[in-house]
Amino acid sequence: MKLICIGRNYAAHIDELENERPTEPVVFIKPDSAVLPKEQDFYIPGFSKEIHYEVEVLVKIKKVGKHISKEFAHKYYDEIGLGIDFTARDVQSQLKAKGLPWEKAKGFDGAAVIGKWITKNKYENLDKLGFSLLKNGEIAQKGDTGLMLWKIDELISYVSTYFMLKKGDILFTGTPAGVGKVATNDYLQGRIEGEEFFAIHIR
Ligand code: ZN
Repeated sequence: MKLICIGRNYAAHIDELENERPTEPVVFIKPDSAVLPKEQDFYIPGFSKEIHYEVEVLVKIKKVGKHISKEFAHKYYDEIGLGIDFTARDVQSQLKAKGLPWEKAKGFDGAAVIGKWITKNKYENLDKLGFSLLKNGEIAQKGDTGLMLWKIDELISYVSTYFMLKKGDILFTGTPAGVGKVATNDYLQGRIEGEEFFAIHIR
């Protein structure tokens, strides 16, 4: 199982990190060992002083496919979720400055929070989902899939040009603005349309 992640998919988040707007989606992969086991707390790793949360809508791939066209992309997933792409921002900034790959900053153990899954049929329009991240009970990030530069079906089509999608793979669709640092004892909750998808403690 692989985690295929999209970077820079919301204009406001691109601006807050002072990144360039991409002409194509930015894609990276986390290994399956990055998945934070269910019900486990997230431990801030010793190699970073700046772990950022990035709340993201997730899509679970249900069958094998490659070179999937946008029109047929909806046939490759039934479930939608919410998660966190934890990022060691200090490590990532150093790697970015040198033009090096981001794996150490994005693929470390526990760096992928995956909440519960819900059938996509529950939602009328996947391109109009409101979601949020609460930190210690207060809204830290607020997003809407309507603001994605590339929508879910476009992303599936794009990434399947490069990587064969397999049953159980998970697509992280990028984070909206408002990313920030976590500290010991923080409590994070993720919601789509007001419904809780995950809740985790930071240690
Ligand atoms: Zn991200």
